[in-house]
Amino acid sequence: MKKECSIVRDLLPLYVEDMVSEETAEYVIRHLDECPECLSELEILKGGAEPRKVEQTPAPKVDSSAPFKKVMKRMNRVFYSLSYSLVIFFIFLGFGWTGGENLMYNSLIMPIVGIFGYCVFGYRSVYKLPLLLLIIDMFVCVFKLVKLDLYSAFMWTIVYSLFVLVGIAIAFLLHYALRKEKD
Ligand SMILES: [Zn+2]
Repeated sequence: MKKECSIVRDLLPLYVEDMVSEETAEYVIRHLDECPECLSELEILKGGAEPRKVEQTPAPKVDSSAPFKKVMKRMNRVFYSLSYSLVIFFIFLGFGWTGGENLMYNSLIMPIVGIFGYCVFGYRSVYKLPLLLLIIDMFVCVFKLVKLDLYSAFMWTIVYSLFVLVGIAIAFLLHYALRKEKD
């Protein structure tokens, strides 16, 4: 290293902090014009000095999607209760109103029960749906809302469970297709 370089390197930290006299600054500048090595040393010093000068306080994180999420959560809850009510309503309708043994109506109603039931229970606990069907059917039967003995009511429940399964399969396929589209 040249002697001049050595002097300039010693001065550079002071020069960066603007703590040298005008004459010294001129001297440093003149040298930097001719000496790329010292110039790059200055760049390094400047680069290192910068983060210390600019105290970077991270901006407080504001989750702008929070209100939206809240609305979605509420919507979900409304949707959930609505679906649950519809499931129960359609089971009553399918089993009670049709007298418990009308295949034509129930081949339409029970798949709807399956679709809404899938929304309520989800993929994992959709098995609760036939149980719910059985409970409601037995309830309807025991309280004489239909003229069926328990055995027939049970048998019809099994038949209707198959229709419910069709609805579940439709809902599952729709769910699957929509999720794939999102990806
Ligand atoms: Zn130099």
